[in-house]
Order: sequence, then structure tokens, then C-alpha cells
Amino acid sequence: MTNAAEVQWGIEGRVVVVTGAAQGIGRVIAESFARNGAKVAALDISREGVEAVAAELTKAGAAVVGLACDVTNSASVQEAVERAAGHFGGIDILVNNAGINVEGTVEELEDTAWQRCFDVNVTGVARMCKAAIPYLKESGHGRVINAASFAAIVPSIGSAAYAASKAAVVQFTKVLAGELGPWNVTVNAYAPGMIPTGMNGFATMPQDAQDRLLNTLTLRKWGEPQEVADLLLFLASDASRYITGTQIDVSGGKLATQIPSKAYDAVDARP
Ligand code: NAP
Repeated sequence: MTNAAEVQWGIEGRVVVVTGAAQGIGRVIAESFARNGAKVAALDISREGVEAVAAELTKAGAAVVGLACDVTNSASVQEAVERAAGHFGGIDILVNNAGINVEGTVEELEDTAWQRCFDVNVTGVARMCKAAIPYLKESGHGRVINAASFAAIVPSIGSAAYAASKAAVVQFTKVLAGELGPWNVTVNAYAPGMIPTGMNGFATMPQDAQDRLLNTLTLRKWGEPQEVADLLLFLASDASRYITGTQIDVSGGKLATQIPSKAYDAVDARP
């Protein structure tokens, strides 16, 4: 499984817990850490999904355990974290990737939708951290890496619950970074831009809708889960040891300028 040529992050043997690892970006994060020699506890609300991921990676020679975990349930979180730590002998890196999207205008959103969104995206992160902190303090080089979103920087219409929940993750990240500094545990957030997954269906929208979105991106192409996973390998490694309490945007330069498509129009207009 481990390709020696790819091992470059110095995370071999480190124990990483990844939530929401059955599909989408989380699955690729789990695969990437495993490929780089980390021991991976892949957690997801879908037991079947995460056990399939673990079976596939284990067959390929990686050290991976799949554990059912609903981040909205404290008992489920505690059990999964303890099982992960027991299985591998500690926890060095916690990736809080699990998240849900809730859409609807402020006028129409029901209380239950707001509550579900915050329960998964914010309190779910807090529950996981609370359970893992004792192990991260023992690690000596602990890492917490939280999924925020570009929506925490520039939200879109109809995304009040999601955007507010992700903005909360960013502030949570700063506070936890402060609290865990004395243990050399760094805490950072990542803000993916537009990565087609089951959560959003970007890649299956009508072409004109896709073009409208792609025209907001400096690199004018959808992101890939691997591009997020590569940032996380860096944030998990010793190379990022002096970075904490921050959010890093991995969005192909979404809205880096007001109208990124102008540069493409200029290129197209060349004689
Ligand atoms: P995804 O494909 O929907 O994957 C999310 C995973 O989390 C799913 O396997 C889901 O399981 C799981 N999950 C949902 N609720 C859970 C719970 N209560 N406990 C444990 N696991 C749970 O989403 P994604 O696009 O990969 O997104 C991953 C993270 O990146 C999210 O936090 C998201 O907000 C963030 N993000 C993504 C993008 C993007 O462009 N894709 C942009 C910005 C931020 P089920 O499907 O079985 O419910």
C-alpha cells in the first residue's frame, strides 16, 4: 500500500482520526493519510460505508480501522474515540471533516434545520475535540484540523445556517488553538471552495449554472478532494508546526479578484 516515493510528510506511524470518512473529501483524506503511512481510524455515521473503506485500504496494506460514529451523539463519539485510541495506542491527529449542508432562506428555514446544521457542523466538532483532547495532549505534536468552508468567508444566498455554522467553526478553532497551545497541539481550519461531491452536485448542474460558478474561480476548474487532502497532509506534518489558530482556503482562488473571468476573456480575445 505505502508507496515509498510518496512518503514525504513524516507522518508515518502517527494516528489520525477522520470523521465523515465514508465518502467525498473525507474518504480521500483517509486514503491519503493511509498512503503516507499513518494509522487511520475512519469514522462515519454510515457503518457500512466506513467498514468498506477500511476493508479496501487494509487489503492494500494500510493500518486502517473503520468505526461507526454519529458526531451528534456524545456516547457514540466517546466510544469511537476510545476505540480508535485503544486500537492504535493514542491519537495524534484529529480531522473533523463530517459536515452537512442545509439550504433555505432565513424566512423559510425551520428551527429543526438550524439545529441539525449546528449539531453536526459545530457541536459535532466540539464533541469530537472534547473526547480526543486527552490523547492529543499526550501526543507531543497533536493536530486538530477542522472543516470550515469558503462559505465562512463569502456566504451565498440561502446558506445562512450553513455559513453561520462554518463561521462558528472558524472561531471555535481559534479558541481551541489558544487552549491547547501549552501542549504543542496546533488547531487549524480549512476552507474548501468548490469540490464536486454528493453534498453539492456541482458537476451535474446544467452547463450554464456550472459556468456561472466556475467563472468565480481564479483557476476556473472544480477542485478535487485530493487537493484538500494534500493541504491536510501539510497541516498534519511537522512542516506546519508554527501554524495554529488559522483558516486556510483551498478554493482555486475563489473571488480572489472581483471578476476572475476577465483574465480568461482577455486570453480568449488574443488574436
Ligand atoms: P459529503 O460527500 O456529503 O461527505 C460528508 C460525510 O460526512 C458523509 O459520509 C456523511 O455521511 C458524513 N456525515 C454526515 N453527518 C454525519 C454525522 N452526524 N456523523 C458522522 N458523519 C456524518 O461531503 P463533502 O463534500 O465531502 O464535505 C466534507 C466536509 O467539507 C464538510 O464538512 C463540508 O461542509 C466541507 N466542505 C465541502 C465543500 C465542497 O465543495 N465539497 C466546500 C466547503 C466545505 P452520510 O452521507 O451517510 O450522511
